[in-house]
Amino acid sequence: MPQPTHDPLPGDYTTARTGFLRAAERAGARLGSHPLPMRSSRGGELAVDTARLGPEQPSRLVVVSSGTHGVEGSAGSALQRALLRSWPDFERHRPADLGLLLVHAVNPWGFDAGRRVNERNVDLNRNFLAHPTEHEAQPDYESLHPHLNPEALDDEQDRRAREALRAFAAAHGMARLQEVLSVGQHRRPKGLQFGGTEPEPGNRIVREIASRETAGARCIVWIDVHTGLGPWGVPELITELDPTDPVYHRGRRWYGDAFRSTRAGESVSAPLSGVIESGLAEAVDPEAELTPFTAEFGTVPADRVFWALRADNWLHHHGDPESERGVAIRRELLEVFRPSDPAWGRAVLASGLGIVRAAFEGLARDAASPGS
Ligand SMILES: [Zn+2]
Repeated sequence: MPQPTHDPLPGDYTTARTGFLRAAERAGARLGSHPLPMRSSRGGELAVDTARLGPEQPSRLVVVSSGTHGVEGSAGSALQRALLRSWPDFERHRPADLGLLLVHAVNPWGFDAGRRVNERNVDLNRNFLAHPTEHEAQPDYESLHPHLNPEALDDEQDRRAREALRAFAAAHGMARLQEVLSVGQHRRPKGLQFGGTEPEPGNRIVREIASRETAGARCIVWIDVHTGLGPWGVPELITELDPTDPVYHRGRRWYGDAFRSTRAGESVSAPLSGVIESGLAEAVDPEAELTPFTAEFGTVPADRVFWALRADNWLHHHGDPESERGVAIRRELLEVFRPSDPAWGRAVLASGLGIVRAAFEGLARDAASPGS
């Protein structure tokens, strides 16, 4: 039978938001909204929206957030819509004290603009730390900086960058190179993986949502949906916590070896600093049992993702985003984080629903056998 070619993922922020709000209303969800003080590219509102389903005061709560990295927002948004649609089915099988909270477009500006970062070039998922005391010096990043963030983007610069990266990997290993390119830095506002120098507005909104919307819940699972790392369409559930942490044990019990710790060197991701997980741990009731993790869905090889990010960063600081070349660079960035192949979207949706369902089942099982 021929596969349907319909792409299940929304094409842009405005379509995603409209679809999310409509599905939330249809599902009878309780809505909340945190608007940003600027307009979208189409002149509409940019907002972080929330939808709650289930009891008013659940003792167990599953949270699914999307679009922390704006350009990655479509997959998480589509998953949230699918959850809203399939809520009656979830509801039939869930314990009465279990609720669902959806946080749509944590970085709405980036989602709308097709960028991973926010309106101030900050990677929100590197911004959740104590500023500036937890800013670590990154001498290796500094040494590679001219190659990662060239002022001109041409074949000669690309060749030199490739050489420098190859030499670094030969001297320090590929794992260290990946870490340097992704851990986050706080010195170069126009650089890659800039984590900012103070809590960004999006950071404050997430903390506010986390502290207000999870109040009263004893067990909280928070799944932040990302794309762009790992094999095509394959999910990995990632924690920054150590394998000795109870979160890791819980994750392994629910997901087997798809649940991985960056600290154990078993993840597609290098260890990162300032991720959303860290902020959640501070914002929710310290007495609650919090299980925060990233659901990362793979797309294209990491090498292609890196060159797309480098070109995008150059474009917005030194190029013309509206030029023909600019359009091509932006199209490539979208493609590496949100592949246009509808089969990718379908695979992500199917496994995404399974991941959320497993969190519900895990919470229900753990409550049934106290002390686990
Ligand atoms: Zn991401």
